Amino acid sequence: MKAVQYRSVGTAPEVVTVPRPAPGPGQVLLKVTAAGVCHSDIAVMSRPAESLGFPLPLTLGHEGAGTVAALGEGVSGLALGDSVAVYGPWGCGTCPMCAQGKENYCTRAAELGIRPPGLGAPGAIAEYMVVDDPRHLVPLGGLDPVTAVPLTDAGLTPYHAIKTSLPKLTPGSTAVVIGTGGLGHVAIQLLRALTPARVIALDVTEEKLALAREVGAHEAVLSDGAAAGRVRELTGGLGAQAVFDFVGAPPTVATASACAAVEADVTLVGIGGGAAPVGFGTTPFDAAFRAPYWGSRAELIEVLDLARSGVIDVHVETYALDDAPTAYEHLHEGRVHGRAVILP
Ligand code: NAD
Ligand code: ZN
Ligand code: ZN
Repeated sequence: MKAVQYRSVGTAPEVVTVPRPAPGPGQVLLKVTAAGVCHSDIAVMSRPAESLGFPLPLTLGHEGAGTVAALGEGVSGLALGDSVAVYGPWGCGTCPMCAQGKENYCTRAAELGIRPPGLGAPGAIAEYMVVDDPRHLVPLGGLDPVTAVPLTDAGLTPYHAIKTSLPKLTPGSTAVVIGTGGLGHVAIQLLRALTPARVIALDVTEEKLALAREVGAHEAVLSDGAAAGRVRELTGGLGAQAVFDFVGAPPTVATASACAAVEADVTLVGIGGGAAPVGFGTTPFDAAFRAPYWGSRAELIEVLDLARSGVIDVHVETYALDDAPTAYEHLHEGRVHGRAVILP
């Protein structure tokens, strides 16, 4: 079968032919219907060998959807042809975090060598993929896999981040979304669907700001040194009750911190190497800073339910499997609007 692999440190992803995998006991083989391309893959591919944490080659893709193609020994509850989404942050399934469905915070995954598909285990940008356990599959229930597949990360990650901050997002409040790409453009829609907050979006180009407005941002502001001041102006000097940074680079983290209100939640989702200095007199009184990772199994089910209710419209740009390397180039160059989705 064809697969898109990151084969050696510092090289671009390649389309290769590899043996079609077979599901082992307890596993499920999916014929991939769609796979999303996340900016985290670019971060992984820019790491030096010593901090990679897993061997290469790696089949990319941690946003996956497919139809059940074969069941490993002992698997029940799924039928061949079922259309499913893959819950990506695989954990051990039994530690206290996994027992709550929070496999993204599994306390034993590292020790047991369990890694998400596309981030250590063979991923979804291939014709077929093996899912280690049926609990990592959620039925799509009529959703189109092409527009639903980004929900497994670009939907789930902002949903998890926003859900924690819902108590702060009361009527009259403001939420700021920094970076309106794959995750950010879904975050804006989640904020509009789940809260009465006024949403201010920040990005670096007019095209990205246009998408932000199109998906529901009340205000769209160019992300530069003046952006935090603009947010203060728009909020009568108070700042925003929740700030979500989907870039996480030093300048955006500084902006996130500078536009937060007293008692705000500042959530750093992007992994752009920035960090916020938190301290008395440095950050607003009682502001909480968090850096969450992905989301829980229950939250993925909730995001898919929300999509089924029709309030999330993921903007996708589709690419054939052979063109996946181009999709990564476009993402790297900031040219993808919404999410790039690979169709094997
Ligand atoms: P993306 O490339 O689709 O979107 C990033 C957006 O940020 C783009 O629209 C880009 O124009 C914009 N941007 C770049 N520099 C900016 C700046 N200075 N100010 C404002 N906007 C700016 O990326 P994505 O796939 O949505 O991922 C977003 C980030 O989240 C990445 O860092 C990714 O690695 C990270 N991520 C984290 C988690 C997690 O669990 N914490 C999960 C998924 C992705
Ligand atoms: Zn991701
Ligand atoms: Zn666990």
